Amino acid sequence: MRVTFATEPASPDRPNEDFIAVTPDAVVLLDGAGTPAGSESGCSHGVAWYARTLGSTLIASLTQSAGTLTEILAEGIKATTSLHDFTCDVNHPGSPSATVVMLRCTDGHLDYLVLADSVLVLDVIGTEDPMVITDDREGQVGKRYRTAMDALDSGTTDHTAALRTYVEAMRAHRNRDGGFWVTASDPLAAEQALTGTLPADQIRAAALLSDGASRLVDRFGLATWRQTLDILDQDGPAELIRRVRDAEHSDPSGKRWPRGKSLDDATAAYIRIT
Ligand SMILES: [Zn+2]
Repeated sequence: MRVTFATEPASPDRPNEDFIAVTPDAVVLLDGAGTPAGSESGCSHGVAWYARTLGSTLIASLTQSAGTLTEILAEGIKATTSLHDFTCDVNHPGSPSATVVMLRCTDGHLDYLVLADSVLVLDVIGTEDPMVITDDREGQVGKRYRTAMDALDSGTTDHTAALRTYVEAMRAHRNRDGGFWVTASDPLAAEQALTGTLPADQIRAAALLSDGASRLVDRFGLATWRQTLDILDQDGPAELIRRVRDAEHSDPSGKRWPRGKSLDDATAAYIRIT
């Protein structure tokens, strides 16, 4: 595998809540779910700590364990929870959480795992349309609650308050049947991930994108998945993020593209496999 990646926080004065790590045969991407200003989380460590701690645990396990990706994720959630369950309220509905994408290439096979709304794009040899794997349960639940927030201009006090209300309403559906699943403190969430195995010689390349990077396609509609793979292949992950930032800055108030965060942490990894 040949891997290139780029990651950039929404703002230079805030920690990047995305996490990316790579070994010669595995890639892990997490996107920590933010706690809006004024919202309780029960955790004194914060979302960036959570994403980095879980992400480091997962990449270490991927180098040592022959277990399934679901097993590795469940163990990683358990280990991360044990690092702060004696200081923090890990069962708080707003405790730090994250999306996860894992990719592992061993013995000619490619294993993947996707939980929540980060995106895995697979460039399958001989097909024009890439295979796109994402878990949109959070987006589906979110449609019920985002109308008020989307009607307001980003950056205004009212929008900030509506975002907080939205996030707190979503908590009632987090890690529940009929709701949506993310990593938080319950290892059972791992069983809700989308997983699969493909012959590595059928995959030309793969892209892992946090939703701050995939928004160029799935929120702004400014590129197709095929064009995204081409940008990554020819110009690299930093160029993809630059295009996302250009779009965000062209619509700072979210009038054209209503969104919770005007700018978001963005991470893109591109892996050439064959
Ligand atoms: Zn904590």
